[in-house]
Amino acid sequence: MEQRVNKPASATRTLARGLLSTVFPVLIFLVFLTLAAVLRHGLEQQDNRQIAANLEHQAEAMAAGLEREFSIHVKTIQRMAERLEVMPETPESVWNADARRYLKDYGVYQALEWIDRNFIIRWLEPVSGNPDVIGFNVAFSEQRRQDLESARATGNPDISGVISLKQGGQGFVIYAPVGTGTDNNGFIAGVFRMEVLAQQMLSSRILDSFQIDLITGDNRTYQLTPSDSISEIFAHTEPVNLPTLNWSFTLRPTNEWVENQRSDWPAMTFASLSLLGLLTSLTTLLVQLILKRNRALLKTRIELDREIDQRKIIQQDVARLESTDTLTGLANRRFFMDDLAHTLSIADRQMRQVALVLLDLDRFQMLNDSLGHQFGDELLIKISERLNGLSDERILVAYAGGDEFMLCQQQVDSVDDVIHLLGAVKQCFEAPYEVQGQTLNVTATMGIAVYPQSGLDADTLLRNADIALYRAKDQGRNAYQFYTEGMQDREVMRLELDKDLSQALRNDEFVLFYQPQLDLDRGEINSVEALIRWQHPRRGLLSPVDFIPLAEESGRITDIGRWVVLAACRQLAQWQDTPYEHLRIAVNLSGRELDDEELVDHIREALESENVPAERLEVELTEEVFIQNIERNLNQLSRLQQLGVHLAIDDFGVGYSSLGYLRDFPVDVLKIDRSFINEVTKRHDDAVITRAVINLAHNLGMDVVAEGVETEEQLAFLKNNHCNVAQGYLISRPIPAVELENAMAEGSLLKGIAVNSEL
Ligand code: C2E
Ligand code: CA
Ligand code: CA
Repeated sequence: MEQRVNKPASATRTLARGLLSTVFPVLIFLVFLTLAAVLRHGLEQQDNRQIAANLEHQAEAMAAGLEREFSIHVKTIQRMAERLEVMPETPESVWNADARRYLKDYGVYQALEWIDRNFIIRWLEPVSGNPDVIGFNVAFSEQRRQDLESARATGNPDISGVISLKQGGQGFVIYAPVGTGTDNNGFIAGVFRMEVLAQQMLSSRILDSFQIDLITGDNRTYQLTPSDSISEIFAHTEPVNLPTLNWSFTLRPTNEWVENQRSDWPAMTFASLSLLGLLTSLTTLLVQLILKRNRALLKTRIELDREIDQRKIIQQDVARLESTDTLTGLANRRFFMDDLAHTLSIADRQMRQVALVLLDLDRFQMLNDSLGHQFGDELLIKISERLNGLSDERILVAYAGGDEFMLCQQQVDSVDDVIHLLGAVKQCFEAPYEVQGQTLNVTATMGIAVYPQSGLDADTLLRNADIALYRAKDQGRNAYQFYTEGMQDREVMRLELDKDLSQALRNDEFVLFYQPQLDLDRGEINSVEALIRWQHPRRGLLSPVDFIPLAEESGRITDIGRWVVLAACRQLAQWQDTPYEHLRIAVNLSGRELDDEELVDHIREALESENVPAERLEVELTEEVFIQNIERNLNQLSRLQQLGVHLAIDDFGVGYSSLGYLRDFPVDVLKIDRSFINEVTKRHDDAVITRAVINLAHNLGMDVVAEGVETEEQLAFLKNNHCNVAQGYLISRPIPAVELENAMAEGSLLKGIAVNSEL
């Protein structure tokens, strides 16, 4: 099939190549040249024929002239003979006079003679120049005698052939008998010299243009040769009809005459055809050059097109590479957002909804930090594989970077479609992941924004999905949250707060409240927890839950933390030499603060500058932060310990609940999370756990603080189970230092012990 299609194409290609070859114009020129030569040859042939005809015509004219002249002379001489016949007594002197008149009238005669019966020349005119002739016998040969005698017998004139004249030179003689037969009285003879005759009869033009051969019988008897060269091609022989003579002559033109006869056509035709050929081949050459140039241009264009195509492919490759995340092989954020924008434009036309799901892996950062980036990458790849299983023509899964994934669901008809997808996503995290020989359960939190109600463009949708995600995280992990209008308000507030937060430290808007901790063994207040408050210029007193997470996100927490430590140290310094000088202050440090390398130095400086012993300060770290820090490096915790500050584990029980860590790194205090205490008197298992934790902590040599003690029953339970310290609203809410001092002075904080004492 291919070949059949190719054949004509290759034939035309060969033809095209032939037409474009340099031989082609040469060939054209040669064809024209040949044509010109053939034409010239034909025209020359015709020319030659014309010349031959002209020559013949010339010869005929000459022959006719000769015949006419001759007959005139023959008649003249015959008339003389007749006159002598009629008047035989004519004396010589009269005849001589008559002859002289003839000679004068006809300049061609060499001489006129009367010859007697015995063929002897008797009379002669003119005598001068011909003196020896008288007495000459003209029948000098047998042939001549016979001719003359037959002329005498018939009365017809006789013309001798060309003979050597007695008078010298070449010539011929016309004999007219005087009387016939026996009455004959000799002959009147007219002698002609050839040269003179020729000069008389032929114009000088003819004499200059032709060689004339006079032929008598078969012999050339006389020749007239011009000075110019003679053509070897042309010759014409013409008979001359004369009585008693077998004459003919051959006319040979001079080359000059021939050339004059020739027409210019053959040369002109040849020249013009050759020129035409040359022009045609030059034109062909020009056309070829143009075509070749066009072809070259075309070729360059094709090559250019090919290059452009290749570049396009490369660009597509690059685009593909650029649109794909190299680690996970999923679409990247940029591609996802472009695609989302496109999807939205289609959804708008179709009046369908689009869901954007933002997925954040819970605690991934911690895993990454503690188990290494390699581990983190492998885990990400595995998670990506499972998530990618969800992708189809309606669902696009992308990796947004960090621990975030994005899903876009098209053609959503109702919220059930999205819920279904969220269920499918949750399925991806049901089975544990196997990475580097470890098995671990991973959970994810999701924020969802739905087009058009949660945003009209891709960026808004993404931002709102992010807000929803943030809310979902706030409310505990492993959950999802749809974006709602109210979130936007909260988000606006959050952003405003973040802005205000940057001014808060400078404006000294933070204050520390103190929540007393009741020593259950001794019935005394020996320590307080410092809890920060923000005296916001417009919003009033703000709880740390409203701004600490914000400060952690923005990094401002480091400076706030420093302020807290310094404020606590100042308070301790203030309490020196007062009834409160025994109090220890516990400050809260977030994970982010612990990342600060200079933290320990700063605490030391604060203690030193306020001249406060280190053991008066306690640092509270959440279980999570504590473990992270142990896994990364012990350095920061060790240095804190070496500094002499107390270490407390905050919110114990909600995180890892792995006491193994504590065995390796003993701390001073364990704070049982409020959630356990809350229902410790109602829920059996909470009571069991609390009891177990208290025992375990004691075994590890730690004191136990119970948080969130709100009821007498809770306090009683804790006391009965030998919990060391109780903290909660039952004893006191967090209060300013002054209030604390007053309350302590009043002893009102110890009413719980009174209750206890009743038990
Ligand atoms: P936290 O460290 O667990 O602090 C105890 C929280 O429980 C305090 O909330 C306290 O007011 C509250 N609380 C105490 N007793 C009771 C009770 O009987 N019932 C109930 N329902 N709640 C009780 P607050 O002051 O709002 O602080 C919240 C969290 O903010 C703190 O939790 C702590 O994690 C963080 N925080 C407070 N101040 C600071 C600070 O200076 N630096 C850092 N990094 N975080 C701080
Ligand atoms: Ca705390
Ligand atoms: Ca706590």
